[in-house]
Amino acid sequence: MEYSINTFEKLLNTCKKENKKIYEIMQEKEAYDFEKSVQDVRNKTENILIAMKQAINRGLKSKEKSSSGLCGDDCNKLIEKYKKHKSLFGELFEKIVSYAIATMEENLRMNKIAACPTAGSCGIVPAVIISLSEKYKLDKEEEINALITAGTIGYVFSAKIPMAGAVGGCQTECGAASAMAAAGAVYIMGGNEKQIINAAALALKNILGLTCDPVSGLVEIPCVKRNAFLAIHAITAAELTMANIESKIPADEIIDAMLQTGQLMSPLLKETSQGGLALTKSGILINRELSNKYSVTEGT
Ligand code: SF4
Repeated sequence: MEYSINTFEKLLNTCKKENKKIYEIMQEKEAYDFEKSVQDVRNKTENILIAMKQAINRGLKSKEKSSSGLCGDDCNKLIEKYKKHKSLFGELFEKIVSYAIATMEENLRMNKIAACPTAGSCGIVPAVIISLSEKYKLDKEEEINALITAGTIGYVFSAKIPMAGAVGGCQTECGAASAMAAAGAVYIMGGNEKQIINAAALALKNILGLTCDPVSGLVEIPCVKRNAFLAIHAITAAELTMANIESKIPADEIIDAMLQTGQLMSPLLKETSQGGLALTKSGILINRELSNKYSVTEGT
């Protein structure tokens, strides 16, 4: 079916008019736009889910460092910690933060991950959807519905803002991923279409202005840990939504505010590594050490 869903308002109205769920509208749209069947779309989504689960499973077992040596063993530290001391917030929290970091560590090891929406934010959506799927014992079809729901939020978001830290700061990468995850979580928790969009709005509204200032230009510091934080951010948005707490600012207006915030943000804070964390004393030191390491390696 040919649907125009480039705003959240249009998405919600289409759902109401057609009496369909967000994932149903999106899978029909995707099938129409790419001249595929709905089953083709669902099969492709299943393959993405498989890649997400494989990345989590590999990441949970590995403590291999990235080539920079900066990151790679944080997931293992979490697992060891939870063996001795359980999380204050229970098993679901443990899974969400571990899965997010496991996936991101696989990314920095250059192993296969599903960019969702980007490689630097690849841990957030899988951590939330797969942890909740395990909790609620979802079947394959429900997992696919949840991921298409999350993807729809990303689709509408990207109609207005490019998902790139270089354009809008990390609010448009990890922020967008968190909104997608919040939407997927509300779908899994049984929320309706309005609540799904509201959860995305709450997640986006509360991440406005997040800068992109990776140390030494690598998608490692702060990116790896940030994925864990923003996965939990998504759960907060979902929980508030399921309590019928509404964003007073509609999702489309928040997107406009995010676009404007990104435009006002200094280029020094948009993936150039010329400001923020990258220019802290420690950030500069790390950059210098890595520059020396790589120049020595190149020279040998
Ligand atoms: S800080 Fe920048 S590089 Fe790191 S995840 Fe965010 S947008 Fe990507």
